[in-house]
Amino acid sequence: MASYNVTLIPGDGIGPEVAEATRLVLESTGIEFNWEYRDAGMTAQEKHGDTLPEETLESIRRNKVGLKGPITTPIGGGFRSVNVGLRQSLGLYANLRPGKTIPGVQSTFDDIDLVVVRENMEGMYSGIEFDTETAEATTVISQINALSKKQIAPTAAISIKVITPEATKRIVRFGYEYARANGRKKVTIVHKANIMKFTDGLFLKLAQEIAEEYPDIETNDRIIDNMCMQLMQKPQEYDVLVTPNLYGDIVSDLIAGMVGGLGVAPSGNIGEGVAVFEPIHGSAPSHAGKNEANPAAMILSGALMLRHLGEQAAAVKIEKAVADVIATGDRVTYDLRADRDPSKAAGTTDMATSIIERVQE
Ligand code: NAD
Repeated sequence: MASYNVTLIPGDGIGPEVAEATRLVLESTGIEFNWEYRDAGMTAQEKHGDTLPEETLESIRRNKVGLKGPITTPIGGGFRSVNVGLRQSLGLYANLRPGKTIPGVQSTFDDIDLVVVRENMEGMYSGIEFDTETAEATTVISQINALSKKQIAPTAAISIKVITPEATKRIVRFGYEYARANGRKKVTIVHKANIMKFTDGLFLKLAQEIAEEYPDIETNDRIIDNMCMQLMQKPQEYDVLVTPNLYGDIVSDLIAGMVGGLGVAPSGNIGEGVAVFEPIHGSAPSHAGKNEANPAAMILSGALMLRHLGEQAAAVKIEKAVADVIATGDRVTYDLRADRDPSKAAGTTDMATSIIERVQE
């Protein structure tokens, strides 16, 4: 039986509790893990004076896979975003965000089964920005005004959107390969190429070229605004959505909302030979240390990790166990109850135990 070395980052707030629940659920499948615990976020800041210590990155690089709890973003200037730092340092170019209906979770839609594949490194998140009325902005604006018929006002703040052929081809290929490996039938390219003719135009053109390499998968494309409307009107017509960074960020939260929100939304950040899986929710500090946080999103992130490791059967078992526990409804955390009454709700550990019992049935 295979044994996997995995970097486990419990994180901050409710992170350690949901991470521990997840560890126990993953181990209940019988698969062996060698967990390497590392810090990130506030915990790392307090222990190592750095929110993203090099030894954490080094551990993920060595193990090639990480499982991460949520982290608290320190308030105040000078702190780089740990999540952006992780993505950039490890080249985690693909953000994978499945959104699947779990019966028993309160949601406006049912029968949703969508996956967003979002480009994670460039687009509107290139990090190249110039603040209003700075010398840098003035220089950039005057150079652009010299080259462009359309003129920028001298007081403008500027964010640069970057779309490269390399990153576009990489994410689109990832989307099709994911679709193929997971028995998906259709890929929708999401863009705004009618307005951003060069950046999104390039994304769409290259995506359509790559689509030809995957004749077994149906391809279409949608303009982002229309995509949002169609997701509300006929979500069943969609399957895998491949998007540049900003649209993917928004659409994946939209879909998380459609299937019941933060408590059940897993994600993966995947690069060349390295990947980090995490729930999309934050560290929920007001619930920390009270054994009341919902562990489902991190457990489902663990299942995504199992799929990435090729352990499909164990992933299916966990996903089914989570769904069964939620559908049964008697051993779930407060947020999954219609009355949201913590006094009648199960704790984090009890919900995890209930999931483990089903995994082992
Ligand atoms: P949050 O996701 O922590 O909380 C939003 C709401 O959902 C709160 O009411 C919270 O109590 C509830 N909630 C979230 N997860 C829950 C769970 N598993 N079980 C039960 N209830 C849950 O978002 P926020 O309050 O905006 O942010 C709190 C901190 O988390 C901030 O420091 C933020 O920067 C950070 N954050 C981190 C990540 C990450 O590490 N990936 C993501 C989002 C926010």
